[in-house]
Amino acid sequence: MTLIESARDMQGQAQAWRRAGRRIALVPTMGALHDGHLSLVRIARAEADITVVSLFVNPTQFGPAEDFAAYPRDSDGDRRLCEAAGVDALYHPAAAAMYAEDFSTWVNEESLSRDLCGASRPGHFRGVTTVVAKLFNAVGPDVAVFGQKDAQQALVIERMVRDLDYPVRVIVAPTVREADGLAMSSRNRRLSAEARQQAPALYRGLCRAREAFENGERRAAALEAVVAAELRAAGARLDYVTVVSRRTLRRGETVVAPALVAAAAFLGDVRLIDNLFLD
Ligand code: AMP
Repeated sequence: MTLIESARDMQGQAQAWRRAGRRIALVPTMGALHDGHLSLVRIARAEADITVVSLFVNPTQFGPAEDFAAYPRDSDGDRRLCEAAGVDALYHPAAAAMYAEDFSTWVNEESLSRDLCGASRPGHFRGVTTVVAKLFNAVGPDVAVFGQKDAQQALVIERMVRDLDYPVRVIVAPTVREADGLAMSSRNRRLSAEARQQAPALYRGLCRAREAFENGERRAAALEAVVAAELRAAGARLDYVTVVSRRTLRRGETVVAPALVAAAAFLGDVRLIDNLFLD
């Protein structure tokens, strides 16, 4: 596995692969890798000849009061996992190399990124779209693999790819969960023992809402109340819960499939997100 630390080196290596007729798949990550990330790597390997994993805790997608400093980091462990998973190159740029001191050019998606996490985390998606654009420009992938766990992010990236004509096929992979249903997340490493016990309430609440939907409930507010009640009972603090169209991410009082129930909650001081399809 090759370790690459600058955009210029990444572009040179990718160009050599393309000249040799190789197709490249990219899996963007912020590291502290888990089985959810590794499931994306398996898809990438099946879809292309070369798999690149990027590892970059992107400062511009964190708000000033958020957990950038506390975000879990384990670059040695990540390197070992990538090597064992058959990754061809690990692109691990330094923050100073990604963002010049006078960096002033941003990519901004202005519709899908407005609500849900966009409302709770102002500026978050501007950081995401900008860094993903930079990663696409460095790697030039044929395919990029993202996770459904970050449903809004996946939709925003698909929109960016369409709107800016990136020649990249975006694949969105299913959410990988722990045995008790908790969606795998790097942030799970930061949960206290108590918060880890409370955390499955997020998935449980979403499942109860999906059951209610399958039993005919179509009022968005009623479905949202089911998730809120489950989190409250577990002692977790709700950030948001919403039922939205899966195409537009807009909320209507009456739910029309294909829809998405999405929630964010604080377990102790750790903010986790999750979502399920309503079909
Ligand atoms: P992150 O490192 O958290 O920024 O995530 C990198 C990529 O892995 C994103 O596309 C995520 O949606 C995806 N991902 C994170 N957790 C999971 C999971 N539990 N299952 C599937 N994909 C995931």
